[in-house]
Formats: sequence, structure tokens, C-alpha cells
Amino acid sequence: MNAVDVIAVKRDNGELSDEQVAWVVDAYTRGAVADEQMSALLMAVLWRGLSPRELSAWTGAMVASGTRMDLSATGRPVVDKHSSGGVGDKVSLVVAPLVAVFGVAVPKLSGRGLGHTGGTIDKLESIPGWSGDLPRKQFLAQLRDVGAVIGSAGEDLAPADKKLYALRDVTGTVPSIPLIASSIMSKKIAGGADAVLLDVKVGSGAFMKDLATARELAQTMVRLGADAGVRTICLLTSMQAPLGRAIGNALEVAEAVEVLQGGGPADLREVCLAVAREMLTLGGCDDDPEPALSDGRAHALWQRMISAQGGDHEAPLPTAAQTIVVEAPRDGWLGRVDALAVGTAAWRLGAGRARKQDTVDPGAGLVLGAGLADRVVTGQPLAVLHAATGALLDEGRAALIGAFEIVDAPVATTPLVLAKVS
Ligand code: URA
Repeated sequence: MNAVDVIAVKRDNGELSDEQVAWVVDAYTRGAVADEQMSALLMAVLWRGLSPRELSAWTGAMVASGTRMDLSATGRPVVDKHSSGGVGDKVSLVVAPLVAVFGVAVPKLSGRGLGHTGGTIDKLESIPGWSGDLPRKQFLAQLRDVGAVIGSAGEDLAPADKKLYALRDVTGTVPSIPLIASSIMSKKIAGGADAVLLDVKVGSGAFMKDLATARELAQTMVRLGADAGVRTICLLTSMQAPLGRAIGNALEVAEAVEVLQGGGPADLREVCLAVAREMLTLGGCDDDPEPALSDGRAHALWQRMISAQGGDHEAPLPTAAQTIVVEAPRDGWLGRVDALAVGTAAWRLGAGRARKQDTVDPGAGLVLGAGLADRVVTGQPLAVLHAATGALLDEGRAALIGAFEIVDAPVATTPLVLAKVS
């Protein structure tokens, strides 16, 4: 085999054999195919696409580039969850312990945030003492004993994806449905769960801006899951406005805890319950998760999950040194809260990072004072901004210009769960 022949097949709109796909993914991961050759192939894939057979082989080769976790000793159904990333998306923090209450184990391998979307590991690291870096043995023991674990995705999980994603990032080849689907599903399949619930966010603050493309991605990922023997359901949920009111690491943990104690914003609660219901169905359980939020069971499991990873769930969360309020300039109804602008503001305030090696400020971020379609009056806080310095507050406030639109008449809201693909 040689890389030029493989590139030429895709360039000319041909179909790669399983052997060619397995070879090129493996050879690139080992360093035997050069970045410039893989860049050419990725660009050909972006334009020509991959057939279902090619895509299945491509995903299988990415899984085979590392280890596939064996979770069979957990002794209960194991259901993983993944979100394509959004602003204020703290759903994993709620659903991992909530679903585990019902005897369905949740092994969640997560990453850090980049740009305007936050990462689950960054959020949990704001809890004093908590660590997501768990040795494999501890991960498995916690999954068996507590039923929920959220850990950092290790280097051995689909290493081909790490290399390919970094290359896609700098070659303009990220927005390709087969490449996104294989990237996400290779990590989920390697994660070892029996089943996976995917929450694909749709809207201005999400990777997928429109419903039709999101649906195509969902269908592709559900098919890849089936090919690999991993039952997969995909919910398409709205990311037109931020989810909940808090955006930023410690602020989001506090809001997730509110939901786990039976409170919290209605939109966040609705998405958490929709995701938890599908995860329970995948785990063969038809119980209603809602009562576990109000009767303390989900919160008790959260405390066990945090303690098992060294976290002090009673310790105060970090706070920012300074705050300012952005007020409503006039009376009306909140017609638009732009998720991308709000996510960017949280990032500028210090809650996010521009480069992988940057650190995040756990106390930074913002809390919205009103939600989409709410009635607002002049001077009412639209957002409270939290940051370490006045200069960062100014940057955050600048990023919020144009984020809120106040209209003169009540606005209709659209459902948060837009579609289900299974
Ligand atoms: N998230 C991933 O993990 N991979 C992609 O390609 C895009 C989003």
C-alpha cells in the first residue's frame, strides 16, 4: 500500500477497500503516513464523502488504534452519554448520578473546553480536591461500587482521533459529517459501554447550526453505533440560547447541584430529564427519573461520586474577585439570547481557553438574570459577570454587545428537544 494511491482513489470519487482504510489510519497514527498526505486525504473525504462501508471501516480503524475498555465486570447495564457541546451545558453533571440511582452505570469520559464551549472536566475541577485523572482500576471500581464516574479521556482511547482531529483543526477539514461522526463514535465505542445516548446540540451556540445537518450527523452516528454493536440513541436539542442561567465552571457546578436538589432552571431540568429517560431506556429500565431529583437520591449519589474522586462536595466553590451587572435598557420581552455571544463572553471573562495549554479561571463566568421569552423591565439585570479583574469584566461586557434582543410583544418559545433519532 502507499498513501498516494489511497488519496487518488478518494480524489477520483472511488471507494476505498477495508484494507486500504485500515492501513492508512494505522500508518498515519504510527507516523508512517505524513501530515501532508493525510491532509490531502481528509480534504478528499470532505468533498467526496465516505460510503457507509468505508465509514464503518474508518471508525473501526480508529477504535483499533487504541484500547477498547472492557466494562463487563461492572455487573449492571452500562450506558455512556456524549454531548456535541454547547453553552451552559452541564447536563452530564446531573445525569451521570441521576441515571446511576436506578442501577444503570454511567462511565463518562470527558474532555476540557476549547473556545466558547465549556468542558465537563474543567467544570468538575472547580470542586476542591476533585480529580478526573483516574487509574483504570479505580475507574472500574468506582463504576461498579458507585455506579457513576466522570474521568478524563486517556491517551490510549482512539489515539488516531487525537492526531486526526489536530490535523483537521489546522487544515479546514473539521466540518465533514463522516469525519465528525467517526471522531465521536470511535471514542464512544472504545469507551466500552453497552449503549450510548448522544445529545447533539443545534443552534447558534453549537457545532451544528441547522436541524437538517444535525439530523444527518445523528443518523450517521446511530448507524455507526449499530455496526459496532453499541445501541445508540440521539436527541437533537436546542442550543439557540444558553442552557440554564449559569455559564462558567464553578457557576455551572452550583447550578447542576440545584437541579440535583430538585430545583434549578426549567430548561436545564427538562433537557436533563429527557436525556436521563433515554439513558434509562437504553439500560433496560422504565422508571421515571424525576422523583429522584426531589427526594434526595440523585444528590446523595452525586456526593458519593464526587467524594470517590477526592472532591470535597461541602467545600465552598471558588468565586471571582469582581462582578458587574449588565442591565436591560428597556421594558419588553427577551426575544433572543445569543448562545455563541454568551459563550464567548464567558471565555473572555476567563472561564474558557483559546489554546489547549491555557488554564481556566474556575470562578469566572456569568449568570443570566432572565431567560428566553421572559418579561424584562428597564434596569433589571440581564446578566451578572464574574471575573478576576476589571479589564476582564470589560472584555466580557464587550463580547455581550448585541447578545440580548428585547422585543415589544410576547415571543413563542420552541421546544428544547427538537427530534430523536434511533
Ligand atoms: N467533536 C469531536 O469529538 N469530534 C469532531 O470531529 C467534532 C466534534
